Amino acid sequence: MLYFSTNKKSPLVNFREATITGLAPDNGLYFPKTIPVLPPDFFKHLKTKTKEQIAFEVIRPYIGNTIPEEELFTICSETVNFDFPLKKINDNIYSLELFHGPTLAFKDVGARFMSRCLGYFSRGSDKKVTVLVATSGDTGSAAANGFLDVKGVDVVILYPSGKVSKIQELQLTTLGKNITALEVQGTFDDCQSMVKQAFLDKELNENLSLTSANSINVARWLSQQFYYFFALQQWEHEQPPVISVPSGNFGNICAGLLANFSGLTVKHFIAACNSNDVFSDYINDKVYMPKIATATISNAMDVGDPSNFVRLLELFEHNHATIKERISNCCVEDNVTEATILEVYKHYHYILEPHGAVAYKGLEEYLKKNKTDKGIILETAHPVKFEEVVKKVIHHQVELPVAMEYLFKLEKKSTIIKPEFEELKSFLLKG
Ligand SMILES: *Cc1c(COP(=O)(O)O)cnc(C)c1O
Repeated sequence: MLYFSTNKKSPLVNFREATITGLAPDNGLYFPKTIPVLPPDFFKHLKTKTKEQIAFEVIRPYIGNTIPEEELFTICSETVNFDFPLKKINDNIYSLELFHGPTLAFKDVGARFMSRCLGYFSRGSDKKVTVLVATSGDTGSAAANGFLDVKGVDVVILYPSGKVSKIQELQLTTLGKNITALEVQGTFDDCQSMVKQAFLDKELNENLSLTSANSINVARWLSQQFYYFFALQQWEHEQPPVISVPSGNFGNICAGLLANFSGLTVKHFIAACNSNDVFSDYINDKVYMPKIATATISNAMDVGDPSNFVRLLELFEHNHATIKERISNCCVEDNVTEATILEVYKHYHYILEPHGAVAYKGLEEYLKKNKTDKGIILETAHPVKFEEVVKKVIHHQVELPVAMEYLFKLEKKSTIIKPEFEELKSFLLKG
């Protein structure tokens, strides 16, 4: 499999190179030259296949010969070695719980897959890979956890001081070993712009092999397809589901669309957004106009210029009409998100967190107009990660999973820096 850059000004590369470099030299995103179609036999036996087998068969065509099959199977097994249960909320809405991984967020899947691929690629190389991550919470913790102890890879995480939740901060700062947390005295946007500058800095790139761990990276993006197959594996209705995806950078939904293009039957997609509404504007006005992100309670989706939007366009060959036909848009304001959390808790005793609640509302509205359909929301994080919001709304404590209790016994270790690129640069060069 070869990958081209969405800016069309870089040479084609294989999976190995696309994963190591992250962003193409022309600043485009890598995209597979062809989308593999899985054989009918695969779908016929989907229900009886193991998660490992599904992951392996789905990803294999994308990897080509860059990772030997046995190695790839091990990577896949380690990537999906936790539960992905599909829980019934009511007669028409099911929740695919993607928060049973080590950091309680769906980003664990992509981070675990990517870290293991990079670990394999850096074997036998004397040049260390440095993964630079700017995070508002979940991306950093999933990456830190995924890369912990991976030889040949160092991870440097930048997070905005005081702007991530307690549990997220502990997940970022207590691992040690090859993981370093930089506590930036600024905002998430500051962190992100410092990281962007680092990728463009000549001196840094001569000295270090830098890569990113966000969904720009193909290894993270492509592996997010797995759980759409797990959803269908557990789906017991005859008609295919409508899937509502809480969306920020649009990596997750684009992975679902890829799965769909590969043959997985999905009735319809909903790109569920908070008040950051660039996708809705695109659907309504046919023009894509990035905006400054506004802060909401579903903060992992506070994105004003979704980086994977170009991949969405590429998937549909820039055809606005087809995009509109296949994907519905919705924007859910914070007060509605809170009301949804309360309503679902009261009626169905199911605790949603803000991102899942946005997806729920989007699906509920869609089903009002499409009464014979049923659907799935992706619940992308555990409610305890957004405990303050949830507790305020339902007046009930969210229990910390036992597996997380150890975190509160660990010691936070971070290096405080000013929101200035030069500080990051000298830190990285000191090594
Ligand atoms: C990252 C994230 C999202 C958004 O996913 P994208 O792939 O960026 O669209 C949604 N919910 C949670 C909890 C997240 O961490």
